[in-house]
Amino acid sequence: MAEKLITSPTNPIVKDIKALEMRKRRKETGLFLVEGLRSVIEGMECGATLKYIAYHTDIKQKDDVKRCVSYCNKCDGLALEVNDIVLEKISRKDNPQSVIGVFEQKTLSLKNLDIQSLKNKNDTSRCIVALEQVRDPGNLGTIIRTIDAVGANAVILIGQCCDPYSIEAVRATMGSLFSVPIYQATLEEFKDWAKGWQEKTGGDILGTTLQTSVDFREVKPKSSVLLMMGNEQAGLSEDLRQIATSCIRLPMNGRADSLNLSVATGVCLYALLEPWK
Ligand code: SAM
Repeated sequence: MAEKLITSPTNPIVKDIKALEMRKRRKETGLFLVEGLRSVIEGMECGATLKYIAYHTDIKQKDDVKRCVSYCNKCDGLALEVNDIVLEKISRKDNPQSVIGVFEQKTLSLKNLDIQSLKNKNDTSRCIVALEQVRDPGNLGTIIRTIDAVGANAVILIGQCCDPYSIEAVRATMGSLFSVPIYQATLEEFKDWAKGWQEKTGGDILGTTLQTSVDFREVKPKSSVLLMMGNEQAGLSEDLRQIATSCIRLPMNGRADSLNLSVATGVCLYALLEPWK
């Protein structure tokens, strides 16, 4: 069993794990941090590769912790028994977790998105959410969690987006990061792919905009939907508006001129997919 007791916050492995808070380091290593036993179990159950697990000495006898440690060993990872000081160093200061996992990232290229194999969880329709230049990691994480909740298929990140593997985004996914495939594409790659997607599925490509768009209640979505959401400041670009089969609008009745991106995505997904049916 590859296990190690670490009590010093200056241990080089602890420093390496801590460094994963930086995007540069995540990019170099292809690894990311996950806080909390529940999310680590989620990663394990979804078959993600667990490179390190750090757990507090006090909970080492817990069955779930033992299960994760044994899984980490199967992944050729290293299990670290640690104390409060080490956990505080690598965990959230305000609410340190007693388990931290380090997993391998799994970001996919759009070329590998096999449209024919997609079906949502109630096997009635396909839905992919495309986010253009999403900048707020909290929004991105919340959207990934919502995609998982409604049983949609995947998320595509178009252009310069925030990192889905940042600690803030991962926290906001609450473990859903492991069950929602994440694809990345440039604007041009996405436009090409969307054309092929429409030819193959005959589905809708729905843009979401505040102007020149139809009320979302007027759209009867087909069984395949590609939902495009715009950037928090600039909204959906003209390029993407051009490829939309329709642009939909959620009515705004008060003084607010728009909804928060993740709220708007959630409302659209529930309205379009009707996951309660
Ligand atoms: N100033 C931006 C604009 O004019 O689009 C506001 C962007 S809004 C904060 C971010 C994204 O959330 C939008 O691009 C759109 O995808 C979605 N969104 C927000 N409110 C919406 C609404 N009422 N109807 C449709 N989409 C909305």
